[in-house]
Amino acid sequence: MSKTTKQFQTEVQQLLDLVIHSLYSNRDIFLRELISNASDAIDKVRFEAHSDESLLEGNSDWKIKLVPNKDAGTLTIIDNGIGMSQAEVEENIGTIARSGTKAFMQALKDKADTNNPELIGQFGVGFYASFMVADKVTLATRKGGPAEKGCLWESTGDGTYTVEECSREQRGTEIVLHLKEEFKTYLDEWKIRSIVKKYSDYIQYPVVMEITRSEKPKGVDGKEIEGAGEIEKTEEQTLNSMKAIWTRPKSEVTEEEYNEFYKHVSHDFEAPFRTIHFSAEGASEFKAIVYLPAKKPFDMFMVDRKKGLQLYVKRVFITDKCEELIPDYLRFVKGVVDSSDLPLNVSREILQEDVQIKRIQKGLVSKILSTLSEVKEKSFDEYVTFWKEFGQVIKEGIHFDYANKEKLQELVLFESTTTEAGAFVSLKEYVARMPEGQKEIYFITGTSREALEQSPHLEAFRAKGFEVLFMTDPVDEWVVQALTEYEEKPLKAVDRGDISLDSEEEKKEKDKKREEAQKEFSDLISLISDRLKDKVKEVRFSNRLTDSACCLVAEAYGMNANMERIMKAMNQSVPDSKRVLELNPDHPILKAMAGIYLQDKSASALTDYADLLYDQALLTEGSLIKDPLRFTRLVSELMVKAAGK
Ligand code: ADP
Repeated sequence: MSKTTKQFQTEVQQLLDLVIHSLYSNRDIFLRELISNASDAIDKVRFEAHSDESLLEGNSDWKIKLVPNKDAGTLTIIDNGIGMSQAEVEENIGTIARSGTKAFMQALKDKADTNNPELIGQFGVGFYASFMVADKVTLATRKGGPAEKGCLWESTGDGTYTVEECSREQRGTEIVLHLKEEFKTYLDEWKIRSIVKKYSDYIQYPVVMEITRSEKPKGVDGKEIEGAGEIEKTEEQTLNSMKAIWTRPKSEVTEEEYNEFYKHVSHDFEAPFRTIHFSAEGASEFKAIVYLPAKKPFDMFMVDRKKGLQLYVKRVFITDKCEELIPDYLRFVKGVVDSSDLPLNVSREILQEDVQIKRIQKGLVSKILSTLSEVKEKSFDEYVTFWKEFGQVIKEGIHFDYANKEKLQELVLFESTTTEAGAFVSLKEYVARMPEGQKEIYFITGTSREALEQSPHLEAFRAKGFEVLFMTDPVDEWVVQALTEYEEKPLKAVDRGDISLDSEEEKKEKDKKREEAQKEFSDLISLISDRLKDKVKEVRFSNRLTDSACCLVAEAYGMNANMERIMKAMNQSVPDSKRVLELNPDHPILKAMAGIYLQDKSASALTDYADLLYDQALLTEGSLIKDPLRFTRLVSELMVKAAGK
């Protein structure tokens, strides 16, 4: 096959440019990324060789070799890992397959400030980081097995690359970085040593380099021979300690080591929020290091996002993203699990069904939840910053992880009518500060706090001094379906069902007033009901309004406006559920309408007003009105009338 020149996928070039221009503050990491890839590649070939030994080609002296060449100005990284076919090279290096990439690139660009290393890091920019220090990168690689051909890839990072077949004896990958003039320091022994020690010490394969020293020759007695000239001696030295970090006692691992390992497993550029290192004994024996990141990944809610932890069995790498180890609602968790119970040749299918894996998951979840609970108790402010990033996902657990519901309900936080914007209350705290007479936990769901604060549904609650939780994440609608009570207090939506906030006495008095109003306005109510019969289920007097004229409420188990919006956004068909229009009998508009009614039962103003009341109710809850043209026309007419023209 002859040499062909190809274009990078547009997004790859954009990513490359971003990497070059935004990660410059820490160029050293290019080496970490390449060593990390090499180590992953060795993990993979070791794993695949369980089922096909021919891949090994007798070459299993695992190592990652660094070769600085001062004359040529190149730094070469060689591994005897899995290698790549040409198709794989092009797929892995020339394209980014994940959807959402375009949107993400745009978002980054729109920020104008390209200095967003943590965002870019989420992409696993790994290989592209080479272009921060090199103006040309050559990659030669071959997979193991008799039929595999070598592939030579080369690029100067300027939009194109070339690929061609090449002969290559050794299985694995060799990457040659032609260093830019100003980065030739990366050829210095001390520089390489210090980077490897700092970033890649835990890599479980030797990272080696040939070191040449001049020394005086030694005699048989081991002593230097007097007067002899110095000779050069070259030996291969291992630069890293290779200790799998999770097998070491916690007390011996420094925070820096944990953080570097986190960067290795997560591709994140920021330190994690919390590190949990523990081992389990008994029914299931495993060691784990799990990390709670500090920032949510940009694709946390994208369907093709891959979750999972690295899985090892007795220190042998099995898979990179074992989904079964972690439930969906903790999909942001990163880390590694090393099991002593699983068989080494464990397959995908086994992983899905395996009871050991289920036990490990249970252990991990329990540890993560107890860590979060501890953070919440001990440093609430820190917990809040974490909650702002991940609360939305954790809440999914209330719906899906019934076994941990009790623990999860202690972890959830909400804003409320009592908290400042951006501040939160837990359910426990809410219940503790419930005033005398309040028997239920109240909440309102919607798109934003600002919109909800305007809601007429809150009026009576404010008047009573009852706190109402704001639930503004789409997932909240599902949360409240699963979380129907807390500490024996039912959770109740303020815009659903009939609501009574009053004591017996107050209730009696109000009922009396309501009955009177019902009598006084009964004909008017029937007229409004009749006019709106296609839109609402019922028209009745309200217990929740003090200032507004009207509002719409869902039935106790009906669909409210927010749920309707969410279902529509998800392209789900929304059943036609009519709601109840509640009117405030003390509002002057009712008196005014009653006045018109007395004079002329068939006045067109009455039906117009009925329509306007309904539209008002829609607008205040943030819904769209069906006929905005008619609405504005009616309002304009009223304005003209009011001005006496
Ligand atoms: P990431 O490591 O985050 O996936 P990279 O851009 O560094 O991103 O690498 C892309 C892919 O290229 C890797 O997932 C891997 O499949 C492949 N790759 C990179 N380096 C090597 C290597 N040394 N040996 C084999 N495959 C490699």
